[in-house]
Amino acid sequence: MWHGIKGHDENVERFRRAVSRGRIGGTYLFLGPPGIGKKLFALKFAQTLLCEKHPAELFDPCEACASCLQVISRTHPDVMFVSRPPEKSFIPLETLIGERGQRNVEGAGLIGHLALKPYSGRFRIGIIDDADYFNAEGANALLKTLEEPPPQALLILIGTSASKQLPTIRSRSQIVRFRPLPVDILTELILEEGLSQNLDEARRLAQLSGGSLERARDLADPEMWPFWVRWRAELSGISFDAVTWSQEFRTFVDNAGKEAAARRKRLYHILSFTANFLRDAITLLVGGHADDSTSAECQNFVRVIKEILGPDAVEVIQHCVETCLQACEDIERNANLTILIDDWITTLWHCLNRSRVASPQSPKPT
Ligand SMILES: [Zn+2]
Repeated sequence: MWHGIKGHDENVERFRRAVSRGRIGGTYLFLGPPGIGKKLFALKFAQTLLCEKHPAELFDPCEACASCLQVISRTHPDVMFVSRPPEKSFIPLETLIGERGQRNVEGAGLIGHLALKPYSGRFRIGIIDDADYFNAEGANALLKTLEEPPPQALLILIGTSASKQLPTIRSRSQIVRFRPLPVDILTELILEEGLSQNLDEARRLAQLSGGSLERARDLADPEMWPFWVRWRAELSGISFDAVTWSQEFRTFVDNAGKEAAARRKRLYHILSFTANFLRDAITLLVGGHADDSTSAECQNFVRVIKEILGPDAVEVIQHCVETCLQACEDIERNANLTILIDDWITTLWHCLNRSRVASPQSPKPT
């Protein structure tokens, strides 16, 4: 563990070596699932480089000097941290080059920030969270900085996967991969954060969270698990009524409150659970073995779906998985949730019930 960062020892070593050889600078692209510590790593690294007490080569920021405190509270004059505003589907151009009318002003935007001489004399650091969300305009604005980084400028882009990065950015960055947190470490973190008080429950939460502490925080939502269990039971019997469940999902989302991000997260998680459930079903259908985490409901689902769909089952379920993943992407793009829920559940219903169209549970037109 390095300064509270667990599970990323290889990357800690990589940066320790780079610092000791004086090879720091340019653009790093941190990639890995959300909520595994990439942002914290970027901030700790910034502290390491700017600490007033411990030289960078020690790789051990004191965490107490003015500079260390300013980095962590995001007020250090040499560190600019930007992210995508929740209501936007990309990083606005103003964030990168400054507001209209200020665009040639020295120091405007993140790119201007990086071009200035360091206040501390060491580095000018820019951290862009949500680097998955550059549009072409933003990427173009960044291009010159990536190609000819100003001396002493260090840019850290934080994204989730290489496939979401524009090639122009990916090819000009040093890629640093962060792996999902192992279940044991995540279980420890869940207990430390008090997301769960009991070891078994913490482990279950860790297993569901795909190695992400952020996801574990969301899933600790007390309404999440009961809703999932209820929906899974309906799904596994393929007996759900699309109109009723469309309403159930809407209520579940509404109960998250007014904040858009919380509403989106709720729906996103249940949809991604559904996708995983269906993926497990495919594993069973193609003769794979059920492991401990494959639920009895999933085995039941496979029995029923074989009866209904026969040899088409795998193909149909694969299509259902894609429908769920597409819906998850649409949620991230701020789609209207009510319309999305309706479309998703109707499509799911039609796929699963396509050989018994005359079913009494067929959704009624609204
Ligand atoms: Zn310090």
